Amino acid sequence: MDYGTFFFTNVASMTVFTVCLGVLVIRNRRVTGLNWMVGGLVVGLAKLVLQGLEGKAPLLFSAMLANELYVVSFFLQFMGLRWFVVRRPMRSRWPWYAVGLMVVVYTGMFLARIPYGGNVTNVCFLTVCGASVWVLMKNGRGPFVAASRFAAAILVADFFVAGYRAFLTVAHYTRPWETINAHNDSRWLYSLAAMAFLATFMVMCDIWFLVAELNRELEVQARTDPLTGALNRRALEDAALREIARSIRHGIPLCMIMIDIDHFKRLNDKFGHAAGDRVLQTLVTTVQGALREQDLLARSGGEEFTILMPHTLAHTGRAAAERLRRMLEELVVPHSSKAIRFTVSIGVAQFESSLGGWEETMRRADSAMYKAKAHGRNRVEVEASETV
Ligand code: GH3
Ligand code: MG
Ligand code: MG
Repeated sequence: MDYGTFFFTNVASMTVFTVCLGVLVIRNRRVTGLNWMVGGLVVGLAKLVLQGLEGKAPLLFSAMLANELYVVSFFLQFMGLRWFVVRRPMRSRWPWYAVGLMVVVYTGMFLARIPYGGNVTNVCFLTVCGASVWVLMKNGRGPFVAASRFAAAILVADFFVAGYRAFLTVAHYTRPWETINAHNDSRWLYSLAAMAFLATFMVMCDIWFLVAELNRELEVQARTDPLTGALNRRALEDAALREIARSIRHGIPLCMIMIDIDHFKRLNDKFGHAAGDRVLQTLVTTVQGALREQDLLARSGGEEFTILMPHTLAHTGRAAAERLRRMLEELVVPHSSKAIRFTVSIGVAQFESSLGGWEETMRRADSAMYKAKAHGRNRVEVEASETV
């Protein structure tokens, strides 16, 4: 294998990958993690082209800029991987400052012709590799477990190959202009080929992450109500079966709360259907914000919502329902310069295995809710046998 042929095939295959993933990004723009990854690939490709020009272009480009782009490319890839598994923006600015500082220090050492400057980029590269492995292993969950582990394995291999190349540089090519002599060094060439091989695997991983993300989106869509974002009836049934099984097994009390908006038809007629939709959305955000992490909120009908409350006895469920009722009564929903107010009627039932499964509990919560309607609306009723 000679250096020129290796570079030509490497640049050609990476161009194909970058273009293909670029097309996928255009079609899936909301998948931010993939944007970062393709950004990393584009920068990595630019680095590759510059590196391939070693001996033909000034070292400022073929060595200095190429090395800097390499680290930036890996950092962008790190941001992409992080997006998939951490799923919230990175608040800390210090990783950006650290990469910026590295570029400045390395540039300074290169221009001043100080030997061993390449180690600055090596250390930075190894740090980004290590940080990526740590983030993937710590946060890769659910649909991303397999892709995360595979990506982490590739990055560990990257870490060792890059470490070996750093060792070669320190031992034989301490000054940037000396690496041209490495083109005939088989250790240099084969370790470079290994890096290219790992980069190809990483592209496969990027696609794997995208597929896992699209699967996750489908799953979320199948379980949530598109208007409000609350769980749908199907997800409620699954959750109810799960929680009831847990309640029976561990003797944990479980409460079901049924909320129905009062005179919602009138509200729709007076303010319009869009205003009604806004009310439903606001109700969900408000209730969701007031619930504990283990509570589940579902839209069980048009303007009906069901809450599953594990670890909750009927009287605690009543107190929680009363708090929600008051909160919703005080709520003002702004809609096209109008202020909409509404009230809800709530029924509460505690699960009792002797009386039946989740459908029976739901029926009892429903009957308590109808009692609240019959008693004048805007109130909470608890299913009689459970009142403590
Ligand atoms: P009550 O106090 O007895 O519960 O009276 P209500 O008017 O709330 O009950 P009813 O069952 O008569 O009406 C429910 C209304 O909810 C009728 C339907 O048009 C409306 N609705 C159902 N789904 C939606 C939706 O997604 N958006 C809007 N805006 N309205 C909806
Ligand atoms: Mg109703
Ligand atoms: Mg209603």
